Amino acid sequence: MTYETVIGLEVHVELSTASKIFCGCPVTYGQEPNTKCCPVCTGLPGALPVLNKNVVEYALRTCLAVNCEISRITRFDRKNYFYPDLPKAYQISQLYQPIGRNGWLDIEVNGTKRRVRIHELHMEEDAGKLMHDPWEDQTLVDYNRCGVPLLEIVSEPDLRSAEEALTYLEQLRGILQFIGVSDCRMEEGSLRADVNVSVRPAGSNEFGTRTEMKNMNSFKAIGRAIEKESLRQIELLNEGGRVIQETRRWDENKDASFPMRSKEDAHDYRYFPDPDLTAVHVSEDWIDQVRRELPELPADRRKRYIGELGLSDYEAQIVTGHPVISGLFEDVYDLTKLAKDTASWIMGEYLQLLKDKNCGPENLSLSAEDLAAVVSMTAEGKVNRVTARKVLAAVIEDGVKPQTYIEQHGLAMVSDASLLEDTVRRVLAENPQSIEDYKNGKKKAAGFLVGQAMRALGGKADPQLLGSIINRQLSEA
Ligand SMILES: [Zn+2]
Repeated sequence: MTYETVIGLEVHVELSTASKIFCGCPVTYGQEPNTKCCPVCTGLPGALPVLNKNVVEYALRTCLAVNCEISRITRFDRKNYFYPDLPKAYQISQLYQPIGRNGWLDIEVNGTKRRVRIHELHMEEDAGKLMHDPWEDQTLVDYNRCGVPLLEIVSEPDLRSAEEALTYLEQLRGILQFIGVSDCRMEEGSLRADVNVSVRPAGSNEFGTRTEMKNMNSFKAIGRAIEKESLRQIELLNEGGRVIQETRRWDENKDASFPMRSKEDAHDYRYFPDPDLTAVHVSEDWIDQVRRELPELPADRRKRYIGELGLSDYEAQIVTGHPVISGLFEDVYDLTKLAKDTASWIMGEYLQLLKDKNCGPENLSLSAEDLAAVVSMTAEGKVNRVTARKVLAAVIEDGVKPQTYIEQHGLAMVSDASLLEDTVRRVLAENPQSIEDYKNGKKKAAGFLVGQAMRALGGKADPQLLGSIINRQLSEA
């Protein structure tokens, strides 16, 4: 029997507001444990929460960007459970009137388009963090993360493969970064997903029993976990067994998932409306204002880059991969008016630099003016691309200006035809064997001669001009 995999995702995003959702403590990462918390976020008796308006605004932005209907009255509820990283013994979340419902995102995988429906979007607070210390055989708790604002974005089970799930996540991450609500650093846990997987006979309309893997924070692990879990379920069904509804833990090192808890011992959270927080009334004016201030979304940018600037699908995809990259592309394009060249430099040298330095686009200091200078000089034939690469590296390492560096190092490209003609004549005279080879049909010999002439000119020759001179002199030899 052929089976179909059905996947739903619950995505948690930490918002990058300046302060937490219900108190004035700063939202930080990697600080000294328990230094960024107060009586409110650690739930001391008598402390009262006050809602951060920016969190609601970020949620509204996100609702609009993922096409959700916005609740005009939204409320907070208490989700009760005990765990050491949750000192209040309840999490303030939204169950009955979440801020957003019925949204969607369109994705495309291998030419097939699919609309992924979003069931709901709600605001909540994050819990603290436990650190298990196996050497001392003890567990430590850090409350700095308590009260960091979260959005939870719950999709319908509309995804059908690991590839679709990853495309959806990438698209969602791009949107969240572009609208400026989160840095979405998965390695720091600011974007994490609960993954629901079930299988059913192909063509069936009923859902199979699903399992859930919680708190996954790498695309690679999510893709792998979906593939392995659907295979596990299919094998189980083929052997006549049945899938049990349970939470499973993905072990990346073992490349397998293991049962954690079944439905029977699932929590009863005893949700009830939080009596400390009043309902939030969202006015039409507020929604209109947020809509007006919403930046252009990545999908719209891609369309514009393809339609107006002539980029290919692939180029547009890469340069809209991150808001900083897209911003750099736009600024360099404004200065150079060279869309293709700019895209080529960003996809080639710029991304390579990020990779070599193992840093994100927000951490590489490269001004649009400097990159634009390098792109223009190369396009105008003032330096060749190999030299331009050296210039770009020097700009980043030593903070010099491209023009200054080129002048100081005498790197301007040699386009002086008479100098090139002379050099080629000399190189040909020194390499009679290569001329012989070329005439006998070994066209590679021309490449060797180009290399020799280029070396004689210190690597600064205009490669096109040099090539044509060599070809002409060879045909005349
Ligand atoms: Zn606090």
